[in-house]
Amino acid sequence: SVSATERPTRILVDLDRIAGNLQRIRAHVRVPVMAIVKANAYGHGLVPVARHLQANGVDQLGVAFVEEGIALRRAGITVPILVLGGIFGPQIAQFIVHDLEITVSSVEKLRQVEAAAQALGRRAVVHLKIDTGMERIGVHEYSAGPFIETATASRWCEIKGVYSHLACADDPDAPMTALQLERFLDACAHFDRICAPMPLRHLANSGGVLHFPDTHLDLVRPGILVYGVMPDPASRPTIAVEPALSLVSRVVYFKVVRAGRTVSYGGSWTAPSDTRVVTVPLGYGDGYPRALSSRGRALIHGQSYPVVGRVCMDQFMVDIGSSSAWNEDEVVLIGRQGDASIRVEALASAAGTIPYELLTGLNDRIPREYI
Ligand code: PLP
Repeated sequence: SVSATERPTRILVDLDRIAGNLQRIRAHVRVPVMAIVKANAYGHGLVPVARHLQANGVDQLGVAFVEEGIALRRAGITVPILVLGGIFGPQIAQFIVHDLEITVSSVEKLRQVEAAAQALGRRAVVHLKIDTGMERIGVHEYSAGPFIETATASRWCEIKGVYSHLACADDPDAPMTALQLERFLDACAHFDRICAPMPLRHLANSGGVLHFPDTHLDLVRPGILVYGVMPDPASRPTIAVEPALSLVSRVVYFKVVRAGRTVSYGGSWTAPSDTRVVTVPLGYGDGYPRALSSRGRALIHGQSYPVVGRVCMDQFMVDIGSSSAWNEDEVVLIGRQGDASIRVEALASAAGTIPYELLTGLNDRIPREYI
């Protein structure tokens, strides 16, 4: 039903599906899982998702930025948290104070971490980042020897992990992943060479979890898979995860558009005959992509109908064919209604993007409800 003050447009997140996905991933990989909850838990809501994952025994969480880690600590999350992104010197004390694990991606950054840890009189827990092909952050595997030697000699850094990130693992046939694994293991061999204890080696994102068992090593770092979404249309669903997020709204207006009249900005869609059209109060200002103009789908009464004309900031229109729909009837934009469903993977393809961008683009103007 429609409340007096809240939007009828909302995101429904099924937390038990997220927990079920975690269990299925664990059963498949048989190593500890660091669930990635950056970018508002891929649009699902950072704190509620992290709480539920913690309650369901996740081994560790991963975020992109220090402020995301601090938000989790302030919400009472106690499991280990790794911040995956690159660090800035002035932020390092915050990592240590909030008990956040630090990605160290160069000798220079290592020195900064050591200085901050010494000033606080507390050792920093770090993961060394090796660049095996992403060319984003990290020390190249061919320069890893001196980096690892310097880090292992550090009094102020406890090396908990060593990791790298896969560039092409969403494609099961890409040769790049085997090459990255080989480069990564070469880098890790320096720990053996200098007789230092081997820290946790981790490499696999969702694509690695799904398609490349050799990359599972000591810990895996799935993100999108935890939410029940495949990283790519080419991905093989080797684990039966279920999508946790639905995007729903309600009909706010019904009309018949006469043959020959156009719909929405730019008049890009013309009614071929007298056409029943409903208006949905959701738009690109909420993160529903404008690229879905005349390309999106909407479910009403268990049937799928096309979005027609341009998506506006707060509204768009749907051609309901010869059906009837009434104000306040439910409209599903992502998820299931009766026997029909719209998967975020398909919607992202229709918008010319990837599920990651679509999910993380759904912004805070849409209330989240946890079921
Ligand atoms: N590890 C790192 C370093 C990442 O940057 C990400 C996300 O981009 C992930 C793991 C999780 O990736 P995915 O959502 O594809 O599983």
